[in-house]
This record gives sequence, structure tokens and C-alpha cells, in this order.
Amino acid sequence: MDIKTISIIGTGFMGDQIASRAILYDYRLKLYDISEESLNVIRKSLTGFLRRRRMKEKVEWISYHNDLAKAVNDADLIIETIPENLELKREIFSKIDEFAPPNAIIATNSSSIPVSKIEEAVKRKGQVLNIHFYAPIITMPMVDIMRGTQTTDIVFETGRKWIESLECTPLVVKKECLGFVFNRVWHAVKKECLKIWAGGYADFETVDTAWQIFTGMGLGPFRLMDGVGLDTILNVEMTYFNESGNLDDKPPKELKEMVDKGLLGRKSGKGFYSWE
Ligand code: NAD
Repeated sequence: MDIKTISIIGTGFMGDQIASRAILYDYRLKLYDISEESLNVIRKSLTGFLRRRRMKEKVEWISYHNDLAKAVNDADLIIETIPENLELKREIFSKIDEFAPPNAIIATNSSSIPVSKIEEAVKRKGQVLNIHFYAPIITMPMVDIMRGTQTTDIVFETGRKWIESLECTPLVVKKECLGFVFNRVWHAVKKECLKIWAGGYADFETVDTAWQIFTGMGLGPFRLMDGVGLDTILNVEMTYFNESGNLDDKPPKELKEMVDKGLLGRKSGKGFYSWE
């Protein structure tokens, strides 16, 4: 299967990340969002991005749509990056299925919803994938790829090759798994770091320092969590807990107390660290 035209459905934070990567590697892009404002923001962002990269001619390779049918009618691969809500995703998959060419592949960038839970919304059950990017792609060029229950080998292989064509490393998930490959590892790191801090065993700065020395990274798990947003971290950790039912996975009450107080990390100016 030949992938030339990509439709990105949802042009928020991740839509922008994926679009910027794909245009660098010569894909034609069709971008759709229900919000005019979001489309305006991404148009500005991508135009500036291409200008800085001295690739102004590629501005013409991108089209912006508020009509879903026009956004997907000649796409080879459609990537959905709308908010993390199962019903919303099922609804948009069903509409995409109606308007996209019969051979097109539909993928979700969801962080936690396996495509097997969305696939009932489409007829083309063999042509769906989880294609999950990590942000920022520029510093983390790795992408999880996971099947639905009926995804064909050729569709999986096409998705894997497409990821490689972006000079990203495909992280092949062999069996359905919440958190895919690396988010699962990251979950384990967050869980233990939060326990050490909430249990009063060590300060969060000490944990971050240890991590930085061990990995050589410029920042540690607590600063990273502050950057993502502690409300998002709490939601994600609760998703793991709800899935496993294992009390060991339950995020500490101290994290919820911070969120309830509005200490959300960078976006609110204060989390574990002060961001003023
Ligand atoms: P976001 O809120 O930044 O962007 C979502 C966009 O979808 C918005 O522009 C919104 O207007 C649009 N939208 C909402 N409903 C829509 C609809 N029905 N049709 C079309 N557009 C619609 O969200 P995000 O952070 O980019 O996350 C999107 C997806 O990517 C989620 O599933 C999330 O789990 C996943 N993800 C996020 C990250 C991250 O770091 N933020 C990383 C990997 C994966």
C-alpha cells in the first residue's frame, strides 16, 4: 500500500506535532478540526515552521478543512488526534469510514484507548491501527503501533513502514497492552517516584537528581510530570488503576490533593516546582 496523502483529524497539540513531522518527510496533508480557531492556529504554526526550515513551497501541500468528507476523500492514511474520549472517537471513526476511500487506513493517536474498542464503529475492521506518537516528536522519535482484533498483516506492515519513513522508530506492540510499550515503562517510573515522595521517603528533588545522574537526562520525572500537567498525570494513573484494579497502581492521595488545590504544574505556575 502506497501512502502519499495523510489526513489529520484534530489539529490541537498532537495534530500539530504529527503534521510538522509528516510535511518534513514530503507527505501531502489534509487537516480537519471542528474548531476554526484550532485550524487558524495550526495554519500559522505550520507556515512559520516551513518558513524557518526554508521549505516555503510546501505550504501549498497542506489544505485546511472544516468539512470532514473533503478532508478524507482522497487520503491514504487518516490519523485521528481528537480528545481522549471513547464515544467521540467512535463517532469520528464512523464518519471517516463513510467518507474515506475504501483502501484507506484509519489510525488513532489515543494514549490509552486500544483501537479494538473503537473498531466496532467502522466496516473496514481490517484497516485500523493504534499509531501513538510521543511528544515532542523531535526529541522522542518513537511511535507505538498496535493492531485491532482484525487488522491485516499488510495494514500493520504499511503502518510500520510509514513510521520508519518519518525516521521514527516503530515500537511494535505484539499483544494489546494499556500504555503500549514506553508509556507502560513510564507509568512504572511515575508510580514509584510518586510513592517515594508521598510516603515521605525522599524529597522529589532528590528523586529527580538521582534520575538525572542515572540517565544523563536534563530533567527528572517530577519536572516532567509538572510539564505534562498534574491533572493529566492523575487521570492517566487512574486509568491504569481502573484497568488493573490493583491498589498498588492507585496514585497517592497527595497527588489528588495537589490537583484539587490547583497545583497543576507549569500550566498553573506551580506544581512540584515553581514555574513563575
Ligand atoms: P488537544 O486538546 O490539544 O487537541 C484536540 C483537538 O481536537 C482540538 O483542536 C479540538 O478542537 C479538536 N476536536 C475536538 N473534537 C473534535 C471532533 N469531533 N472532530 C474534530 N476535531 C475535534 O489534544 P491532544 O493533546 O492533541 O490529544 C489528542 C489525542 O492525542 C488524545 O487522544 C491524546 O490521548 C493523544 N496523545 C496526546 C499526547 C500529549 O502529550 N498531549 C501524546 C500522545 C498522544
